[in-house]
Amino acid sequence: MEALKDRKKDAPIELVIATRNPGKLREIEAILAHLPLKLLSLEDFPDIPDVVEDGTTFAENAGKKASTIARLTGRLAIADDSGLSVKALKGRPGIFSARFAGNEATDQERYQKLLDEMLGIPDGQRQAAFVCAMAIFSPDGETQFVEGKIQGWITFAPQGEYGFGYDPVFFIPEFGKTMAELEPEVKNRISHRARALEKLKLILPKFLPP
Ligand code: IMP
Repeated sequence: MEALKDRKKDAPIELVIATRNPGKLREIEAILAHLPLKLLSLEDFPDIPDVVEDGTTFAENAGKKASTIARLTGRLAIADDSGLSVKALKGRPGIFSARFAGNEATDQERYQKLLDEMLGIPDGQRQAAFVCAMAIFSPDGETQFVEGKIQGWITFAPQGEYGFGYDPVFFIPEFGKTMAELEPEVKNRISHRARALEKLKLILPKFLPP
C-alpha cells in the first residue's frame, strides 16, 4: 500500500471514490474529471468489504465510509451518503433510501413503494429533498464534511428514463421536469451530489501537497 506521503514526486495523486454504485461513480467522475487527480473506486479494490452504514445521519455514514477506505487503501478517499427526505413522511426514507423496499429491491420497487405510501397526499404537500453528505479523509486522519441539497416534489407517477434511484419520481419545479427527464449533463450540474462536490472541490487543495 502506497501511502500518500510515500508517493513518488510527479506521480498523480490518487483519490479513491468509496462507492461501487456505477450510477453514482459516473456522476462523481464527470464532476471531478478535470482535476489533476487519478480517480479510483472500490472496483479497483475488490478485496475491501462493504462498509456497514450503521450511522444515524448521512454525515455519519459518509464519514465512516471515507475514513475506513482511506485507512485501508492508504490513499485520499471521499465517500457520500445520500438519499431522499420526504416532508410528509417525516424525512423518510432518509438514510434508509437504498433499503426502503428491502435489500434486494429494484429502483422501480423502491420508488413504487414511495408512491404507494404517498397515496392520498395531495399536490402542495409532496415536498421532498435529495440530500448528499460527503466526507473526505486523508490516510493520516485529516477530514472535512460538506453537504448538498436540492428541493423538489414527489410526482404521482414515474416520468423519465435517465439517472437512477428515485429520479423518475422527483420533480424539480425550476426545470418543470423530473430528475430522470434531465440530460445527465444537466443533472450533474444541479444535483445534491453536484452541489456537495462543488463545495468539496473548494476544500480539496487543503488535502493536496503544495
Ligand atoms: P447511498 O448513498 O449509496 O446509501 O444510497 C442512497 C440511496 O438514495 C440510493 O440507493 C438511491 O436509492 C437514493 N439516491 C441517492 N442519490 C440519488 C440520486 O441522485 N437519484 C436518485 N436516487 C438517489
